Amino acid sequence: MSRIAVIGAGPAGLLAALETAEAGHDVVLYEASGQVGGMSASFEVAGQRVDYGSHRLHPATDPDLMARIRNLLGDDLQTRIRNGRIRLEDRWVSFPLQPGPMVKELPFGFSARVGIDTLKKPLRRSKVDSFDKAISQRLGPTIAERFYRPYAKKLYGEPADDLTVELADKRVSATSTLQILAKALKAAKVDGRNFFYPRNGYGQISEALGAAGINAGVDQRLLAPVEAIRCTEDVEVTAAGATDKFDAVLSSMPIDLLVRALEPAPDPTIVDAVDTLRTRAMILVYLVLDRPQFTAFDAHYFPDASIHTSRLSESKNYRSANDPAGQTVLCAEVPCWVDDELWTSTDEDLGDLIADELIRSGLPDPEHVATETRRQARVYPTYEQAHAGARSLVEAWEPDDPRVLVFGRQGLSVPDNIHHVMAMGRDAAAVVRVDGTIDHDAWRRARTRFAEHVVQD
Ligand SMILES: Cc1cc2nc3c(=O)[nH]c(=O)nc-3n(C[C@H](O)[C@H](O)[C@H](O)COP(=O)(O)OP(=O)(O)OC[C@H]3O[C@@H](n4cnc5c(N)ncnc54)[C@H](O)[C@@H]3O)c2cc1C
Repeated sequence: MSRIAVIGAGPAGLLAALETAEAGHDVVLYEASGQVGGMSASFEVAGQRVDYGSHRLHPATDPDLMARIRNLLGDDLQTRIRNGRIRLEDRWVSFPLQPGPMVKELPFGFSARVGIDTLKKPLRRSKVDSFDKAISQRLGPTIAERFYRPYAKKLYGEPADDLTVELADKRVSATSTLQILAKALKAAKVDGRNFFYPRNGYGQISEALGAAGINAGVDQRLLAPVEAIRCTEDVEVTAAGATDKFDAVLSSMPIDLLVRALEPAPDPTIVDAVDTLRTRAMILVYLVLDRPQFTAFDAHYFPDASIHTSRLSESKNYRSANDPAGQTVLCAEVPCWVDDELWTSTDEDLGDLIADELIRSGLPDPEHVATETRRQARVYPTYEQAHAGARSLVEAWEPDDPRVLVFGRQGLSVPDNIHHVMAMGRDAAAVVRVDGTIDHDAWRRARTRFAEHVVQD
């Protein structure tokens, strides 16, 4: 069998490493940070396991992958009922939407206009050439103006009109108000609002995958950021001062870092294109509260443009676990740009800002006793119209050397869910032949399937 390097121990890389090792290859898994899980990792704040923002395993997960996760986690994988709220025009609306609460909670003017938009849909014929117009065409101008327009600006940092139709295709699963209604009818049944979540935090999925990989023989190297991938007679990977030789490399590291690490360097047009694409950053602000629970809800969503927070989650409410009884931890997701005013704010200022925003949104004063933050530099790829050409180039790019394969959320610069990237990891492992060469025809077919992924929120 052959020597395979897998780069990045997020869920994509972990599953790729595990299944490549199970196929009998000699596998080294390189991870830049000190833990596995990437964006799907968990860690402790005030004695409680927390995630990098609200994470759930969605029922849309492929049954084979679901069986693998269940097998690894056993009873620790809990079935939970979603219980969120959206702050819409100074009112709380239950999310997922359900017919009864929707009628009671949605502002009457809003519902009436959405009804009129639905009737007028056959008459809407304007050219669909942006995220904003796509949403307006599919779900009507009211939902576009009052929900998606401000929310998209907050998440991506650019006006919805400057974002591409492709983003709407990837991020918004409903293509008509009737589909929203059908989903709401499904959610009216308790099992229509299910999700899955591990007892010890979302990161338990990755930790279990990592442990299974080590059992299968994966040489897992933490604190080993890959700096160079030299394609000579072998593929030489350099990380943390050591260089090893491989037959093939499966990379889920961010694409901009990969093109810089590759030797010989890729064509300058690709280097330029990758440099042109922007990715929105996020600060995760954790507020520690000296009380057993803040609210009974798992997540609160804030489309309002005057609030920096896009979503607030309360870790305890995602699971049944032995969390400390007298304290709870909130996590506010704050999209921003690296080095902007928010990114460079102190923890204390961010804590006070979030507390103030929660109060302004009609929630109780959290009266937090401590604040911790984490900063993620690459969270949401921004599908800007201005950079659509560069994005097409990057999407079509394959490394010149056929021994290098690129996958994962940051590798392919997509906004995909964990079940999507695990499917990528599984496919990446499957296309490595016994002799360590990569079956590129099979990989191209897999890439065509990945292009169909639509994010679940
Ligand atoms: C706020 C938020 C909420 C989300 N909620 C959900 C949800 O509810 N449900 C869901 O299914 N998905 C959710 N996701 C998406 C989910 O987190 C990702 O799909 C998943 O973590 C991507 O996995 P990955 O392995 O492709 O990449 P990542 O998790 O980004 O892992 C990449 C890994 O590569 C490592 N790396 C980077 N550079 C190098 C280098 N040079 N050398 C070695 N290693 C390197 C990184 O440290 C990281 O560990 C959410 C994401 C965010 C940001």
